[in-house]
Amino acid sequence: MKAPLIKIKNLRKAYGNFTVLHGIDLEIAQGEVVCVVGPSGSGKSTLIRCINHLEPFENDGEIIVDGIPVRPGRDLADVRAEVGMVFQSFNLFPHMTVLRNVMLAPIRVRGMSEADAEKRARDLLDRVGISVQAEKYPGQLSGGQQQRVAIARALAMEPKVLLFDEPTSALDPEMVGEVLDVMKKLAGTGVTMVVVTHEMGFARQVADRVLFMDGGNIIEAGTPTEIFDAPKEERTRNFLHAVL
Ligand code: ADP
Ligand code: MG
Repeated sequence: MKAPLIKIKNLRKAYGNFTVLHGIDLEIAQGEVVCVVGPSGSGKSTLIRCINHLEPFENDGEIIVDGIPVRPGRDLADVRAEVGMVFQSFNLFPHMTVLRNVMLAPIRVRGMSEADAEKRARDLLDRVGISVQAEKYPGQLSGGQQQRVAIARALAMEPKVLLFDEPTSALDPEMVGEVLDVMKKLAGTGVTMVVVTHEMGFARQVADRVLFMDGGNIIEAGTPTEIFDAPKEERTRNFLHAVL
C-alpha cells in the first residue's frame, strides 16, 4: 500500500473535563473515499475539523497531512491549502458573486492572475452545473446550488483532500440528490475525500471505507458491505437499525 496521505495518531480532544475524542488512530490513503457515520454528538465533526486545525487538539496526539504536521504555526497555511472543506451551511461570501466566491482563494492564497482564476472558476462552475448562475449572488440561489458552488470553491484550490461535514443535511430533500451526484462524480477523480454523512445510500455506493463513530471513538471500520451488511459491534447494529 502507498504511504497514507493522512496519518492520525492518538488524537485526543476535550472541552474542560468532557472528552470528545478519545485517542483516535486513523490512516487514510491517497484517493480513498472515507465516509464517517454515527450518532449526533459522537465526535464526527470534531474529528474532521481537527484535520485542518479548525479545532485545536491535545498536543500529545499527531496529525500529518501529505507529510506536513498539523499544528499551530507556519505550516498550517500549507496544510489548509491542501485541504478543502465543505460545510453543512455552505458558508459562501454573501456579498460576492458566485464567480468571485470561487476565484477568491486562488488569487489571495496562490497569487493566481484574475484571468487564470476566472477561467478556472468558470470551468469548475460548469463541472458542478452552475455556469449559468456565475454572476448571481449566493442569496439568489437554491440551497442545492449554493452547496455546489461551495464544492467548486473548495476545488479551486486543487486540494489533495476534501472534507465534507454533512453537506446535505441543511438541504430540502429535493436538492440532496444534485449535491450527492456532484460528490459521486468527484469521488471518481482521485481526490481524497472524508465525508461525514447521514446518507447511508451514498456511503454504501461511494465509500471505500466506512467508519462508525460513537462516544468519541471509532467503534468499527470496514467496507460498506462489512459495515452495512455484517456489522460486528452491537453499537453499530443499533445505530444502523435506528437510521435505516
Ligand atoms: P457530531 O459531529 O458527531 O455530532 P461533534 O464533533 O459536533 O459531534 O461533537 C462531539 C461532542 O463535543 C458533543 O457532545 C458536543 O456537545 C461536544 N462539543 C462540541 N463543540 C463543543 C464546544 N465548543 N464546547 C463544549 N462541547 C462541545
Ligand atoms: Mg457534526
